Order: sequence, then structure tokens, then C-alpha cells
Amino acid sequence: MNPETPSARFGPVTVYFGEKSGKYPDGNQVIVHGGDTVVAFDTPKVANRLSAEVFDDAVDMAILGHVHEDHMCGLHRLRGKPLHVHERDVEAARSWDGLRRHFGYPDAALDAFRPKLEAEFSYAPRPDAQAYADGAEWDLGGGIRVRAVHLPGHTAGHCALVVEPHGIAFIGDIDLSTFGPYYGDATSNLGDFRRSLARLPELDAKVWITSHHKGVYTERAPFEDALRAYTARLDDREAVLLDRLRAGPQSVEALAADGLLYPAGYGTESTRAIERWTITQHLDELVASGRVVASDEGRYRLRA
Ligand SMILES: [Zn+2]
Repeated sequence: MNPETPSARFGPVTVYFGEKSGKYPDGNQVIVHGGDTVVAFDTPKVANRLSAEVFDDAVDMAILGHVHEDHMCGLHRLRGKPLHVHERDVEAARSWDGLRRHFGYPDAALDAFRPKLEAEFSYAPRPDAQAYADGAEWDLGGGIRVRAVHLPGHTAGHCALVVEPHGIAFIGDIDLSTFGPYYGDATSNLGDFRRSLARLPELDAKVWITSHHKGVYTERAPFEDALRAYTARLDDREAVLLDRLRAGPQSVEALAADGLLYPAGYGTESTRAIERWTITQHLDELVASGRVVASDEGRYRLRA
């Protein structure tokens, strides 16, 4: 093992922490050692700093909790080994066209994105990726099993991967970061994310591992505190939008230009698409709950 990569063990699970505790663009690598099968959950950038002994030679298969560029970085080292991806995300793993639809940014932004994905995230499609469904189980031998729990919102196929009977839950990009939930891609969904956040405490777990930044929780109270703070970011964003509408009717474009997730003027084509889709989903909720009215001119105003 590369001695510079910090790690922690929880029963059959080893977590290799990426730079800055796995802050994006890095992540935390989870490897589960069953009685006869060794599984990697996702393959963030840190995977490429692990030795062949720990990674290429040891790992028998990979299961992705969801598809995004920062979770596929080490797949090139596991060519020819089974790769399992939830059925709602699997096309994004299989082809570049599938990944384009998954992101849904404007064509020019996606064209510019691919070389960056290849250079910085070792991106390569995996046409051989196999689809799994909610509740899928893998028996790793020695009484150790992995179960997929579909918790969509971040992506349509986002899942928690729970190692049983130890109750170790890899919760992926429900990452409990101070940034808050991310639902800015075409296949992301705010309503699904809210329902997944509400269901997360019901997971039968004692250890929770996130992909980024927060790392590992080994006690329920701090985990639930972090989850509450993370969920509250949704209310913060809603409050910002309502505050801006107090000044008068606004279009999605104008609201996006002021920045909700990112600072105003930060924009690249893809971040503007992310802002627009994030804001649109909040406005749809506010219209549905009767607090905001959509006009024919594509502008939104507070209900009088
Ligand atoms: Zn992600």
C-alpha cells in the first residue's frame, strides 16, 4: 500500500481517504473484503494512488453507488472484472452518449468536458457494465453481503451500498458536506433527494461512509446532526430565491445569473445549466405549494 494514503478499517471494510478527506475532485475509496470476494465501492481518484497489491490484484469486482466522473477514475485498472451499476445510471457508465444525457449540459460544454474527464479523471466508458435493481444483494462469502438501497435524487440511480451483517453503509454523494445536496444534472431530482434524505436514518447501520469530505461517522447522533444541517441547505436555497423574488418578478435565467450554488459571475456553460436546473426545481416546488406564481412570460413572482 502507498504509505501516504491514510486509511481506516471497520470490520471487513477498509476506507482509503482521498486528498482533503476526499473533497471533490477526489473521493474516499471503500474496499470490502468478503470470505471469497473483494469488492470496490466506486473508484475515486485516490484509487489510482493505491498499489496493485491493494487494488488491481485484490479487487474482484466493482459496484458503483452512482455514476459521476469522480467515481469512475480507477475503473481502467479493473478492466475485464464485473462492474455493477444501478439500472437508472447504467447507460451513463456504458457510453459517452449515456453520460452526456446523464449530465444534460449544452453540447458545447459537454464536448469541452470530455478531454478534461479523460485527463483528470482517467475517464473511459464501460460498455460491459451490468445493471442492478433496488434491493440487489451480493454474497461475498464468509457471511458478508452487500445490499443496494436505491436513494435517488443526486442521480436517478444513486444508491447506498450496505455491508451486512456489520451495518456499514456507504452513502456516496449524500455526502453531508457544507455545500449541501447536489441535484443539478439532467437526471438529478430535488423531490427524490428530499425523500432519500428522509429515508436515510432508516438504514440499519452503525457506520456511515460518505464519498467526499465528511468521511466516516461511527455514532448515530453526529450522523443525524450532519444530516439535518445538510438537509437545511435546501431551505437556505429556497429562502434565497424567495428573497430575490420579493424584489420583483424574475426569470430563471436572471436568477441563475445571480448564482444560487456558485458565486454570481462564476459561470461556465455547464455551471449555468446546473444553476438553471437547480433553480427550476425549487421554483416548481414553490409553484406547486402556492407560494410562487409562474407568469406567461416565463417569469416568477411571489403570490400576493
Ligand atoms: Zn456524484
